[in-house]
Amino acid sequence: MSNSSGSAVPSPIHIPIHMIDLIRKKRDRGALSEEEIRFLVGGAASETVPLEQLSAWLMAAWLNGLELDEIRALTVAMRDSGAKFDPSRLGKIAVDKHSTGGVGDKTSFLVAPIAAACGVAVPMISGRALGHTGGTLDKLEAIPGYRTALSLEEFEAVIKKCGASIVSQTQALVPADRILYALRDRTGTVESPGLICASILSKKLAAGLDALVLDVKTGSGAFLRKREDAEYLAALMVATAEAAGTRTVALMTDMGQPLGAMAGNWIELMESVDLLSGKRPAESEDLRELSLVLAGWMIFLGGEAISPEDGFLRADAAMADGSGLTVFMEMIEAQGGDISVFEDMAGFHKPGATLVVEARESGYISSMDTTMLGWAVQRLGAGREKAGEPVDPHAGIHFHARRGAFIEKGQPLATLYATSHAKLVEPISLLKRAIVFSDVAPAPVELVSRVFTREDSESYLRDAVR
Ligand code: URA
Repeated sequence: MSNSSGSAVPSPIHIPIHMIDLIRKKRDRGALSEEEIRFLVGGAASETVPLEQLSAWLMAAWLNGLELDEIRALTVAMRDSGAKFDPSRLGKIAVDKHSTGGVGDKTSFLVAPIAAACGVAVPMISGRALGHTGGTLDKLEAIPGYRTALSLEEFEAVIKKCGASIVSQTQALVPADRILYALRDRTGTVESPGLICASILSKKLAAGLDALVLDVKTGSGAFLRKREDAEYLAALMVATAEAAGTRTVALMTDMGQPLGAMAGNWIELMESVDLLSGKRPAESEDLRELSLVLAGWMIFLGGEAISPEDGFLRADAAMADGSGLTVFMEMIEAQGGDISVFEDMAGFHKPGATLVVEARESGYISSMDTTMLGWAVQRLGAGREKAGEPVDPHAGIHFHARRGAFIEKGQPLATLYATSHAKLVEPISLLKRAIVFSDVAPAPVELVSRVFTREDSESYLRDAVR
């Protein structure tokens, strides 16, 4: 090699990267280069970097934080650490929705078929129950025969046929996150905005999405309870996904009470199918409203509406005319599910034990500890105590009272469905502690309090002092 004056230019020397140096750099508040991040992620995915070194680096990152460039590099390197889905053969714009998790959050069952009915392709890779929050896959598996573990070829075939498919992450997809997430779970390093952002987005972006709608929860049932933490995460995820080439918005939404009336597995499908059938029970109005707003954004970003508001109207029409329901049933059948169970949904619901809990006093419901309510749902049998345990499809809670309602003593607060009578004891006490009464009505809380677009997110991050 020579330069313009003809003298020899030494070829760049390749300096090997050592994991110990990356740990020390982060420990001393340095920022890793893109190459160093790729080395770390590659080492995690191939299991060639020892777990103790990855754990030490994760704790240094949790304590000292990650810079925006590091988070972007981490997200992209994790996205590229395994197989990816290529939606280009679908012939439509591919859009997904992701929620940061909550109690009674079943919007996936509404937005996926509704957006698909409006012409958008929805490749949705979902998760299982985590902590106090429910999991889309556990709920779908309440349908006899429904297969969540499809190959990427089967996933593509279902989307081509029905417009939407809801599946689990395969072994091949984002292997780096599987290793890093399990380590974070065991080393107290889950609650880091940069690590959460890279973990969530790497999985979503591996589905090759053109656009993504994020539902970032705030309030007593959210993972990040403090509003400023949830806002920072929302802005971070939007800016990071946009930098990786996916059009993204984030909606900050209320998780100060369960979403809709049902929290569990089968009962959440019952509530969703009622709405998709065009019914409008008052107790499900917040779920209906949020689902239409989220689907409206998906339809807009998918190029099938001229604005999110226009998308909302199209989504509303797909709910009223039953076209969303048709897609949902086609998708369930295509994934092996027995749709005959929807003919008599209440008849299929067979909990081991049922109990109605009544109010012990009169007053307004002023607040709810929604995380505690989520644990009550889990302990009834709807969630897991340990990874890998089966869940009870029929356990859960039907809430009869919303925040702000005036309740008379003796009025039903909730119906509990459990695997057995013994499993009712702890959830009854959790439920009673979680619902707070007052003589005065609480101030109303907005369901959707803020929308972060790319521009909002970039300016938020410029102003954020972290
Ligand atoms: N969900 C994920 O997939 N990753 C996180 O880090 C947190 C929630």
